[in-house]
Amino acid sequence: MHILRIVAAITFFLSALGLGGCQTSTTGGAVGAERKQLMLVSSQELDQMAAQSYNKLKADAAAKGTLNADQAMAQRVRAIAARIQPQTKVFRNDAPGWNWEVNVINSNELNAYCMPGGKIMFYSGLIRQLSLSDDEIAVVIGHEIAHALREHSREQVSQAIAAQAAIGLGAELLDLGQASADMAGVVYQSLIATRFSRTDENEADRIGLELTARASYDPRAGVSLWQKMITANSGGRPPEFLSSHPAESSRVQQIEALLPTVMPLYTAARRGG
Ligand SMILES: [Zn+2]
Repeated sequence: MHILRIVAAITFFLSALGLGGCQTSTTGGAVGAERKQLMLVSSQELDQMAAQSYNKLKADAAAKGTLNADQAMAQRVRAIAARIQPQTKVFRNDAPGWNWEVNVINSNELNAYCMPGGKIMFYSGLIRQLSLSDDEIAVVIGHEIAHALREHSREQVSQAIAAQAAIGLGAELLDLGQASADMAGVVYQSLIATRFSRTDENEADRIGLELTARASYDPRAGVSLWQKMITANSGGRPPEFLSSHPAESSRVQQIEALLPTVMPLYTAARRGG
């Protein structure tokens, strides 16, 4: 019995390390992001779990009367997202056809995210407390959509699976039944309370800014947005969005360095439409 478990663990570990596990979720674009990613769960599996989590969030908010409570704000965010969504084709052919959804939760929280498969949630606090312009909202949406296009959550879950397989192999005691129960927790955490790596944040900034520009929103709003974030961060407890998105002057500098690449796309998009 024991030897079978070890064989299973080795097989699992090898598949984690290699053959077919590494790919890149996006192609093309002017800013580029071709880093190879470890992917051990399918997009379909993760999209399904994301949709379930998203529906639960919506149901909870609806029960509290906070789901799209400000209808004008919900329409505003949806209109901005609708202009960005078709631009995703530059990075992924399949993305414009995703089952996109955009909702606003009425809350003082400064937060926003896009779950795998295009499930966007915006918290009204981010817009109200930072008095975000349409261009700044577009930068946030572009950035969050970029995380979904690059499938950073799927990558995180895959890394957790690989780590668990490696630990199990070391102990010669990998219990796959137990591993999958643990994975449910890992997946949920990755979807709800995501902390992305600096590499992920950098990719999302790059791709997000290009999406913003192509949708003819001013990518220079990325600079003002992050300056507002830095100011918000200086007072007391950092808001939710900032605990996962460090606001630093280096981030503003990186965005400024991208402007020469994306400003021509913005100019062309304005001329075109
Ligand atoms: Zn991010």
